[in-house]
Amino acid sequence: MNTHVPPTVQAKHDGRRKASLRQWFDSRAGGGVDDRSDRIDWLRAGPFIAMHLACIGVLWVGVSTVALSTAIALYALRMFALTGFYHRYFSHRAFRTSRTVQFVFALIGAACVQRGPLWWAAHHRHHHRYADTAQDPHSPTVHGFLWSHAGWFLTPAAFLTDESRVPDLVRYPELRWLDRYDIAVPVALAVALYGLGVLLHWLAPSWGTSGGQMLVWGFFVSTVVLFHATVTINSLAHRFGRRRFVTRDDSRNNVWLALITFGEGWHNNHHFYPGAARQGFRWWEIDLTWYALRLMSAVGLVWDLKPVPAWVLHKAEG
Ligand SMILES: [Zn+2]
Ligand SMILES: [Zn+2]
Repeated sequence: MNTHVPPTVQAKHDGRRKASLRQWFDSRAGGGVDDRSDRIDWLRAGPFIAMHLACIGVLWVGVSTVALSTAIALYALRMFALTGFYHRYFSHRAFRTSRTVQFVFALIGAACVQRGPLWWAAHHRHHHRYADTAQDPHSPTVHGFLWSHAGWFLTPAAFLTDESRVPDLVRYPELRWLDRYDIAVPVALAVALYGLGVLLHWLAPSWGTSGGQMLVWGFFVSTVVLFHATVTINSLAHRFGRRRFVTRDDSRNNVWLALITFGEGWHNNHHFYPGAARQGFRWWEIDLTWYALRLMSAVGLVWDLKPVPAWVLHKAEG
């Protein structure tokens, strides 16, 4: 990870020539002259850029109710897997569950194209430890908005998983497999959606869908929107919103971000007390992930949801 303060300001104001986007990103990363480990690896960034370009395919494949519904349903299911499991469970151990449920949601999380649960949790634990310092990989305060939103994870250094941060997770071979072959689940989902589209085109032609349409809407559009919604918590939720608690970082509570990320927008609450399964601390702080976890707990799929302590709730009301 980045261990030094990037000379970003100098780099930004130095260039009288118009810098290319690539040069600009490199300047935000701020690696030393010989150190490319924390600059964007453009070759490996290729699939990420290609996923965005693939969304333009909507112009050719058209749209249908079934394709749009699939995109929305996959956004909702995968957002919950990210917030409830990648974040609150794997990163913060905010509740307990069975090994089967742990695997099922790790699998759905892996379909988000945000890499495996070990990688995600290791980087997120690092973020909490160094939030908004030079060692935070995605601080908008230190590295700027664009880098915190969509630059930080494309460097060779960020591709690695620091397993010393996730000793509790590396014990599970199935989770290590998902991490190691993080391309497998997204490819399987894309192929399944294409196949479903072909099948529906044949079985129910009146629905007006096709393999290409289900692939573009169900996979590419849904995943790209899911990605940008998720990373607003790294970029916007450390910039815009209210600071209820005094924390060492710049985290904010933002209702709009809480709505699109199913509760993660109460980010200042979360940085103040990261161990709770709940992030909306007041009754009106909508936290869809918390409601879903309560439901799962009611039917015995998860248990020991860690509460927000009374002293924190009391402080939140002040
Ligand atoms: Zn944060
Ligand atoms: Zn967190």
